[in-house]
Amino acid sequence: MRGKPVEKVRELLVLRGLDAILFTGRANIRYLCGFSGSEGALLVDRDASSFLTDSRYTTQAQEEVRADHLGQYRLPEEGIVARLRERGCGKIGFEGEYLVVSRLEKLRSQAGAEVEWVPLAKEMRPLRGVKSDAEIEAIRAAARLNAVAFAEIAAGIHAGVSERELAVELEFALKRRGAEEKAFDFIVASGRRGAMPHGLASQKVLSADEMVTIDFGVRLNGYHSDETVTLALGHPPQRLLEAYDVVLQAHDLALEALRPGQPLKDVDAVARDHIRSRGFGEFFGHGLGHGVGLEIHEFPVLSPRSEDVAEEGMVVTIEPGIYIPGLGGIRIEDMAVVSAHGCDLLTAVPKNLRTCVP
Ligand code: ZN
Ligand code: ZN
Repeated sequence: MRGKPVEKVRELLVLRGLDAILFTGRANIRYLCGFSGSEGALLVDRDASSFLTDSRYTTQAQEEVRADHLGQYRLPEEGIVARLRERGCGKIGFEGEYLVVSRLEKLRSQAGAEVEWVPLAKEMRPLRGVKSDAEIEAIRAAARLNAVAFAEIAAGIHAGVSERELAVELEFALKRRGAEEKAFDFIVASGRRGAMPHGLASQKVLSADEMVTIDFGVRLNGYHSDETVTLALGHPPQRLLEAYDVVLQAHDLALEALRPGQPLKDVDAVARDHIRSRGFGEFFGHGLGHGVGLEIHEFPVLSPRSEDVAEEGMVVTIEPGIYIPGLGGIRIEDMAVVSAHGCDLLTAVPKNLRTCVP
């Protein structure tokens, strides 16, 4: 989906025969009108956009919001329905993946039978898929923070440090450098814990001759970074070193395959087939990657079931892994933006095997 954000919504209105779409999810609201607070509603109809919020956010909305109308409500559902009536809207689309049932019920009972509510899910997903140059720059800046902070803490990765200490050091370095917030709870999984793809940092202490996987990222000006580094402490088991080579090759092959027009399930298949051909197929269960932007996981999806196709301007992760129960695991993750003929890396921490002195 290309074009200015609100224009894309209007195309959808026409396509679905709707009078307006109601947005209550933070990411879409920020994308469409610039509001970065946590409570508000945006109504886009065929001629105008209206942003409504409560008194806590009125000043912030006046500074941030690009909309034709700014309004204040005491109770959200009351305010939204009043504005719908003012605009004469009877058929309203809403974010089926965001609006909770209790809120929809309140809207329904306030608005009465003359208003029809239409859940939108699949058709809404591509809305933020293709990033503008400014968005790509924002993501690149978040990725740059990753690289600077990681370089700062790298010397402290050694036997005797706990996973949680490492996670805290990394978060501190990122925030001191300007990160708004961590993008998610960091994964620091060492030794056998590395076999858990989502092994959150624990009290386990790093020991010599194991591998450690660190998956981290930040939010900066609303946009996220996401990156995974796997390092060796001393001399890890040979099978894990082999797995590292295979994952790195799968990662490189997928990046080579990523270009406009490419079905993303095919990019996933390039990495998956390579891992399978080297005998590790049963140890790679998750999808190859996901879109990143105002949300840490967003459209599109890279997996064997994905129906999404790469377009210039999409920002996605490439994150193959091998997880061997009882032994450990490897994941290598970078973010890339799809360019005119291929893709460009956004993350900057080198992914060749790094061996730390235990
Ligand atoms: Zn990640
Ligand atoms: Zn990721």
